[in-house]
Order: sequence, then structure tokens, then C-alpha cells
Amino acid sequence: MRNWFLLQGAIVGVAVVAIAWRETRRPLRARVEPRLPHTIRNAAVGAVGAATVHLLETPIVLPFAMLVEGRGYGLLHRIALPDVLKVALACILMDYTLFVWHILVHKLRWLWRFHIVHHADRDLDASTAIRFHFGELVISIPWRLAQIAVIGAGPQALVIWQTATLVSILFHHSNARLPERFERALSHLIVTPRMHGIHHSAAADEMNSNWSSGLALWDRLHGTFRLDVPQEAITIGVPELHSPRVVTLGKMLALPFVARNLNTPGRA
Ligand SMILES: [Zn+2]
Repeated sequence: MRNWFLLQGAIVGVAVVAIAWRETRRPLRARVEPRLPHTIRNAAVGAVGAATVHLLETPIVLPFAMLVEGRGYGLLHRIALPDVLKVALACILMDYTLFVWHILVHKLRWLWRFHIVHHADRDLDASTAIRFHFGELVISIPWRLAQIAVIGAGPQALVIWQTATLVSILFHHSNARLPERFERALSHLIVTPRMHGIHHSAAADEMNSNWSSGLALWDRLHGTFRLDVPQEAITIGVPELHSPRVVTLGKMLALPFVARNLNTPGRA
């Protein structure tokens, strides 16, 4: 497993450098905040999140995936398939159930209190991809265990899915401009920066679209795919948290526990 983690680190490292380079050379959206303080704030939220994953999520979730595989629990153990197909199918089903989770964290008011910290970023770039409140990461652990148990995902599938998802979220949160025709074609397969930019819009009807985190298929199947809003027309963020004074690091970490009157988007 140690080699897997080294490989995971190398893949993510290369992706970060490539994406940051493209963001600098060809930005997609104009920034509202200087890049450095914005990156430092998101890195701080991300560091608390990374510690949470390292100390809490991985020690629970990884042994659980080993147990599920050892005991033969879950859907994929009911069907006879070559191992490589089982791993691929596990990753696809983990991706679909993450799509479902993403809708839940928007639609359930008590989960939105945590996910709003991610959406309150007034600029969208690769650093937003690690800006998840540690509370959201803790709450997602039972969901992750349920995903693994129902699907029957083993540790190998889990690590591959986690790596692919991390690279995917770094990519689609990024402020990297891709040629429009290329991005339109790519959006048939995976979530792209322009797609996810629409999901980070302060306008509720735009935010309530593009829920996928890996394959774009899920939004296309569910009729929630959008690529019809120009990025210049989008205000990134959430309407009730638009002043720079309310999106400081301390206020963001405290927000889920102290906030009142946070409307779930679309129900305001
Ligand atoms: Zn969201």
C-alpha cells in the first residue's frame, strides 16, 4: 500500500504543477482577490482538511475496504467479472454515489452549512479544490463507508478512485483556460473548468447544475448538465457571503457552528 501512496503523491504533484502553470499562463476568469492571500487562505483550510483525512478518514476507511474485500461484501462480489473490470466498475459507482452526496450537501440544510465554506470562495481556482471544511470531511466518512459496503469496493479500487477524483477536482476547479471546442468535446467525458464554474455561480439556477465530480455522464443522464453560461457572466460565490470581511479564515472555520439563516440555494 505504501507504493500506492507514493504513486498517488507523484500523480497529484505533477497535476498540481501542470494546472498551476496553465492557470498562470492562460487564466479563464478575472480574479476578484490577489492570488497569494487567496491561495494561503485556501491552503490553510486544506491543511486542516488534510490532517482530518490523515488522522480520521484514512485509518477508518482503508481498513474497512480491506474488510469488505476480505469478507466479500457488496454488489460487485455478487457478480462474476475479471478483477480489472471489478476495480473499474467500483470506481465508476464510487463516482456516481459521490454525485449523489454532492446533491445532498447542497439540499440538506445542515450539510449545506459545511459545504457553503467551499462555495463561499469568491475566486475559483485549483486551491478551491482543497477548500473543504473539516466538518464536511468528517461527516462524509459514514457516507464513504456506505459507498464501499454497498458497492463492494476493495482498497485498490478505493485508492485509484481517490487519486482520480483528487486530480479531477483540482482540474475542474482550476482557473485554466482551455480551447473552447476542446473543452466542449472533453465535457462529454469528464467535468471541465467551465462546467464547474457554472456550479460555483452565486445564481441559484446556475449553482443547481453540474453536480458531477469525475465523469460528466451523471449530469448528462440526469438533465443537470450546463455549459450555456459564459464565464464572464458568472459571479463566483454565495450571495450572503460576498463581503471580504465575512470570508476570512477564522470566520470560515467557525461558520458551520455559528451561522444563522443560511438558505439552501434555490429555496431562498
Ligand atoms: Zn457544490
